[in-house]
Amino acid sequence: MPQAPLHIAIIGAGTAGAAAALLLARAGHRVAVFEAVADPGPVGAGIMLQPTGQTVLARLGLLQDVVARGHRVDHLLCETNNGRKILDLSYAALGDGRHGYGLHRGALFAALFAALGQQTGVGVHLGIEVRKLVTTPKGPLLRDAAGNDHGPFDLTVVADGAGSDLHDDQGTPRTVKPYPWGALWWVAPDPELRFSGRLHQIVHGAHTMLGLLPTGTAPDRPDLPLVSLFWSIRADRVDAFRHGDLGAWKARVSQLLPAAAAVVAGIDSADQLLFARYRDVVMPNWHGDRTVWLGDAAHAMSPQLGQGANLALCDAAVLADCVAKHPDVNQALVAYSRARRRHLDYYQWATRALTPFFQSDSQLLPWLRDVGMPVAGALPWTRRKMVAAMAGAETGLLLSSALDLGPPPRLEA
Ligand SMILES: Cc1cc2nc3c(=O)[nH]c(=O)nc-3n(C[C@H](O)[C@H](O)[C@H](O)COP(=O)(O)OP(=O)(O)OC[C@H]3O[C@@H](n4cnc5c(N)ncnc54)[C@H](O)[C@@H]3O)c2cc1C
Repeated sequence: MPQAPLHIAIIGAGTAGAAAALLLARAGHRVAVFEAVADPGPVGAGIMLQPTGQTVLARLGLLQDVVARGHRVDHLLCETNNGRKILDLSYAALGDGRHGYGLHRGALFAALFAALGQQTGVGVHLGIEVRKLVTTPKGPLLRDAAGNDHGPFDLTVVADGAGSDLHDDQGTPRTVKPYPWGALWWVAPDPELRFSGRLHQIVHGAHTMLGLLPTGTAPDRPDLPLVSLFWSIRADRVDAFRHGDLGAWKARVSQLLPAAAAVVAGIDSADQLLFARYRDVVMPNWHGDRTVWLGDAAHAMSPQLGQGANLALCDAAVLADCVAKHPDVNQALVAYSRARRRHLDYYQWATRALTPFFQSDSQLLPWLRDVGMPVAGALPWTRRKMVAAMAGAETGLLLSSALDLGPPPRLEA
């Protein structure tokens, strides 16, 4: 390590914070993690673990453990309500044997959090909600909800998720715009593995979208396969949905995909479905003075391309590399923002551009989607670009090259 060990604060023990803490501590730094939840547990629904995220988990030595709880996903199938295929993208087009995994968010959390507990050089402080970053000449000070100060630290990593409201005193620019649409989520047992092997979406216009993602096994029941169902909905229609006719909605789901009848059968009340609203967080740079924003806190986006956790893992890996390479913390952070720019800009742009084709009240956009996407998916060059985008490795629209992920990680059978 070129420089003296740093004293680093990490706010949030989610995907980005836990991965960054592990990598920085393994590089010899002293890391203090502050997590708002007093007893964090494996909550959430299905997420996609893409080849990019797998590469970082392999570096952490956690991939085998995580994918053992996941379900292999070979392709994305998107059909209209009339059964017309508009997208069928297979990871096989990458030509290197890679694929995705459907995973319960809790399985990823459990693996990272357990590793944190065993990592030398990491102190985890639970039940501490950081409310304010206070600039001092010696570095940022963290003020928590009880009014206690922590620090100062040589480097502060803000990784407190999509709801982050932490600013520094220097006014590092950060804008937050809620998406008008989000999704209702439900996780159900799928003992017969009816939804095996693919992420399946059924769309009707852009006002209706149903998705089914095999989700591996339950964090507390390794023998129980799960499937996650998501139902697109505009945020201002959620209340009406909750007070509406649940039976009619179940019938609609079953009509769109008969196999989904078994998934919704276990829902007795609309309140059992959890609503996730999406936010678009934009920062021109992801760093300030001795402070850096990672994961959803830095670049929350719609999950249309299934990248949230994967981008968070990539952020952590690139930050650790930049800190290792640059003895000066602020130079390391400038290098970090530069290194992440193309990858993050691409996914922020692509999700913002694509989401209204799948989630909006537009008549025109879904028509263009239904006409254009089958054509794009049939042409070898655009097809390969679309698969690279799905895999998390794309960095631009036209003349870009995909990220070099190195050889696919080797996993025991
Ligand atoms: C409860 C939950 C459920 C989710 N479910 C899904 C899902 O089903 N599907 C999906 O695609 N994505 C889901 N996500 C989002 C997905 O996990 C993220 O895109 C991805 O993990 C990015 O990681 P992150 O570390 O940036 O944020 P997160 O994983 O959200 O982690 C942020 C962490 O910071 C902590 N925190 C927040 N505020 C403070 C504070 N002021 N001080 C200290 N700590 C703080 C939080 O408690 C959390 O542990 C979920 C996130 C959460 C928190």
